[in-house]
Amino acid sequence: MTVPSETFDLPPELRARANEITGKYRMALAMQMAEELVDAGVPMNLSFQITVGELAVSAARVAMMACVGLEKREPRRDLWMKRAEENFEEAREWFANLQTDGRIDRCPICAEPFKTDDICATDIELMTCHAACLEGSPVVDLDSGEPLPEGEMHTYRYGDENPAPETREAGR
Ligand SMILES: [Zn+2]
Repeated sequence: MTVPSETFDLPPELRARANEITGKYRMALAMQMAEELVDAGVPMNLSFQITVGELAVSAARVAMMACVGLEKREPRRDLWMKRAEENFEEAREWFANLQTDGRIDRCPICAEPFKTDDICATDIELMTCHAACLEGSPVVDLDSGEPLPEGEMHTYRYGDENPAPETREAGR
């Protein structure tokens, strides 16, 4: 295969399969890095900024492995830059959703819109997430922030905590 593979417009089926796997890691990896920096005494805003820079380092290095290493060619830098631009626009929308008066309609980890029957849990920073997306994260007491080593994650149906607007207006 000699065709450059940084197409960023994968066939839908492959895109869906990729999202299923990568969605679990995107935010989880970043948050883990930021949290570890905060734990080491780095101010939170700097921890987030350092994390951004380091993820860019990872992206560039993986691009070299994929292109120079596997495909014996230079990465298509122009396509990566274009993708980065698009990411910023998408992220703006994602974050606006996060901030919408505490009512989040997408999982901040996988970015999938919540469905009524989704099993959710509350992350101390990201708030409502799919329980499955949070799997592997340490469980902490939401009031004290203390880790609960034996802690079972508290889960709930999305629809139970976030009734649809028409239900709320019915004035139960
Ligand atoms: Zn999710």
